[in-house]
Amino acid sequence: MGKNILLLDEDIQFSKLISSILEGRGHNVRQANPATAKDSLLPSGDLDLIILAAPLAGSSELEILNALKQQADRNTDTKIILVAKDQHHLDSIKPRVGELPVSLMVHKPLIPYIFGAQVDREFEGEQTEAARQKMKDFETMFLALVTKYARVLPTRISELSQAIEKAKAEPNKAELAEEVRGLAHKIKGTGGSLGFRQVSDCMHLIEEIAATIHEKSREEQLIAWAQVDNKLVEAQHAGEQECQEINQAVSATDLSSAKEAQAPSNPAMTRILVVDQDKEFLQIVSDLGKQRLVDIIGAVSHTDALQKAVVYALDAALINLAPDNPEQSFRLARDLRELPGFENLPLAFISGQALVKDRVEAAHAGASLYLDKPLESEALEKAVQHLVAIRQGGRPRILICDDDEFFSNTIALVLRNEGMIVRMVHDPSKILDTMQEYPPELLLLDVMMPGISGFEVCRMIRQIPRWQDLPIVFLTGQTGVEARLEAFRSGGDDYLPKPVVNEELLTRVKVRLDRARMLKDRSDKDTTTGLLLRRAFSEQLTAILAESQRLKTTFTICLLDVDHFKKVNDTYGHLAGDKVLAGLGQLLSRRFRVDDLRGRWGGEEFILAFKRETKTTMHLAVQRVLDEFTKVGYSGDKGEVFYNSFSGGIAEYPQDGESVFELVKVADRRLYLAKERGRRQVVIDD
Ligand code: GH3
Ligand code: MG
Ligand code: MG
Repeated sequence: MGKNILLLDEDIQFSKLISSILEGRGHNVRQANPATAKDSLLPSGDLDLIILAAPLAGSSELEILNALKQQADRNTDTKIILVAKDQHHLDSIKPRVGELPVSLMVHKPLIPYIFGAQVDREFEGEQTEAARQKMKDFETMFLALVTKYARVLPTRISELSQAIEKAKAEPNKAELAEEVRGLAHKIKGTGGSLGFRQVSDCMHLIEEIAATIHEKSREEQLIAWAQVDNKLVEAQHAGEQECQEINQAVSATDLSSAKEAQAPSNPAMTRILVVDQDKEFLQIVSDLGKQRLVDIIGAVSHTDALQKAVVYALDAALINLAPDNPEQSFRLARDLRELPGFENLPLAFISGQALVKDRVEAAHAGASLYLDKPLESEALEKAVQHLVAIRQGGRPRILICDDDEFFSNTIALVLRNEGMIVRMVHDPSKILDTMQEYPPELLLLDVMMPGISGFEVCRMIRQIPRWQDLPIVFLTGQTGVEARLEAFRSGGDDYLPKPVVNEELLTRVKVRLDRARMLKDRSDKDTTTGLLLRRAFSEQLTAILAESQRLKTTFTICLLDVDHFKKVNDTYGHLAGDKVLAGLGQLLSRRFRVDDLRGRWGGEEFILAFKRETKTTMHLAVQRVLDEFTKVGYSGDKGEVFYNSFSGGIAEYPQDGESVFELVKVADRRLYLAKERGRRQVVIDD
């Protein structure tokens, strides 16, 4: 929800920057100059936050602080953030804010993106240690990128300077001016995105001049190059200053490790709920988690677990099987899966004694894994990797194609922080190979790249049928109408100007992804049962077969058919029949593991596929769903209650068949046998 924020700052540049960041995060920002608009310090209406930023030339800080205090007395909900000029200034005003409800004090220079996040944190209320840690990790990595860029910026600027000299020396060679433009463009995009605003602004002008210089007369060119020189000098100064500021900001953020920190491949912390009555065990797991960059949320009881599941965005749950009452643990698993948004939560059980009976129950309740206690660091890591891999099936996969590694890394960091999986390709000629091996759900494509333009890459991709619906978003500093038109003409879906404002990037990417997923869901899934349609199921089953062949593992399929369904329709009405199908579809999607496949094969026939599972286990798991299904009462047109059952046939790869076709044939034969033998049963042998 957007908040009403009053920003008091005399520094117009800073004001503009901060308000664009905050507005990008959905807040309403009003700017006022504290020196000239003292009355605005006491605004009417509901203010959620006042940001008071120094320097406050012309008016005494004390005066402003006092006015703020009156404001605060009247409206106790208003939060105040103070931004001091520098560390020294911050120290000097600290004693004077004693009575004010100041919730946060920071000092300039600020890293815009991080400041935006800090503001949001003010509204999030009580922060958990885990959330704080996650933010801190993100800040560390973001700052690491910024510091690294600050180190190379002087080199980039001097490369640009050399290119300018070359272009000046040979005014007839248009490609030399083009080179200048390209270099300026890169610094503008990357520098701007990382917070080097002034440098970015200078580069913007240099880029513009270089773009049109070859159209000019000799004399005009001289003037234009002089302007470029001026801007370059300005950029050098600004760069030095901004680098210095950023280094200060880094040391002030108390993240000195940021300078050396390397971004791990996936900075988004995985969050796992661990349920165990034993607090000591939870502590051990939590410590293990810390070593593995996993955020462990402990819960000691059924209620505790459900409450925490609602509060935290979980990636998976590990449930310790209560030795005296395993049924309770299985019930918890089922209850977790019933929570809205948790239908796909990957689950694992931990147990000291591995009984076959429990394993079957676990599979039925939807567990992907069964771990033995004592849990060791390695086992935990493997389990986490496995659960996360399952979860990642649900995480959006993004590909970034940009020749600028810094720029890509920045964008990747922001997207990964939102839980997305990001791959980068810096050489556009390799993009198709990369897409083959890592099929993205969205492509972020740079326009200016060596050798080939992003527009050409986009055209090339669109010619491949598989990628015709892939959302493609251009990232570019060319903002002219012609470039925008070209973006759409070449088959792009959207267009993001560089420097990229992170909030805007996220919003656009999410909107595109949601839409693409919705469309895919609509074409892959059956509306009555919510399960995969035959075609989509077959495609995914073929992928499972390929994986099993490669890894030499097994998998099992099961065909289900509702018993006497014609009679249901005839007796209770077609609508009641539909309800039964929807109910069975829902039951099948809530039971079993997230990575198991469920489809509607047609009519009242369903199909399931269990990875890495033998038919004995699958048989028992399906049998349990059958027991459940037979107990669900449905009501007919006239309110009469009736019960249903189904029959099933199971086939296992490779012993019952080595192709999808053969396996389905065998399963179908066994389904027929089940019908013959009296229905309401599942057959695994002929
Ligand atoms: P059996 O136990 O041998 O499978 O008997 P059955 O009556 O279930 O089998 P049969 O194949 O003879 O009948 C299936 C019926 O399912 C016929 C068809 O009208 C009905 N049906 C198929 N699709 C739907 C649907 O989407 N909704 C409803 N309500 N009925 C459907
Ligand atoms: Mg039937
Ligand atoms: Mg049938």
